[in-house]
Amino acid sequence: MEAGEPVPPPAEEKAAEEEDDFGYRLFPDRNKKSQSFLARSLFTFHNRCQLMLRMTLDTNPYAQLLLEAMKQSGCTVFNDRHFSCENCDGCVSGGFDSATSQIVLCQNNIRHQSHMNRVVTHELIHAFDHCRAHVDWFKNVKHLACSEIRAANLSGDCTLMNEIARFKFGLKQHHQTCVRDRAIRSILAVRKVSKETAEKAVDEVFDACFNDLEPFGRIPHNKSDAKRAYKDFQNRDRYNANL
Ligand SMILES: [Zn+2]
Repeated sequence: MEAGEPVPPPAEEKAAEEEDDFGYRLFPDRNKKSQSFLARSLFTFHNRCQLMLRMTLDTNPYAQLLLEAMKQSGCTVFNDRHFSCENCDGCVSGGFDSATSQIVLCQNNIRHQSHMNRVVTHELIHAFDHCRAHVDWFKNVKHLACSEIRAANLSGDCTLMNEIARFKFGLKQHHQTCVRDRAIRSILAVRKVSKETAEKAVDEVFDACFNDLEPFGRIPHNKSDAKRAYKDFQNRDRYNANL
């Protein structure tokens, strides 16, 4: 269990709950107290998640570029409708639910603004792919593999700082290796397929999908790359509008 998840009530309270109802009659506030504690911590997680999301959408150039690109593709993203802060199992950070076109943000596992930025960007790339191409997320594992490669490549999941943080610095072609590893891991997290199947799918589409840099036009290795990509995207649009 991750440290950020709701803390279970202390042992004494648990013991009181497990006793017969005498305990409740004698201490009518016991149960209420533990509920309000739980509700309070859930509220805090939820609030923090929504505040961080707002910050990402307002200030992060990766997210802003993707939102702009989706708007132009006819898939306007609305904060209230397309994002949902929820508690998730294990150490999952987020997900894209193609049935509802909703991005799930795991409020119990996202604790820092930089993590929120990356998760929102990663999931927005899936949403962008879902919008522009009719991705067959469930039947075609290659489609999923392609979007996971793009998400890992373009979201900053594999930028140098993240890699240094993971003590993988110094590996030649570390970016490609990181993208491939993460894509495989992402597939295995959401589909019941063998490791071999996931690896095969990723390797088959790797070159094509790694080189598909839409809508960034480059691999954004840091925030200023992303800012430049965002500016270029806006100019590209202006140029097209003048034709
Ligand atoms: Zn993904």
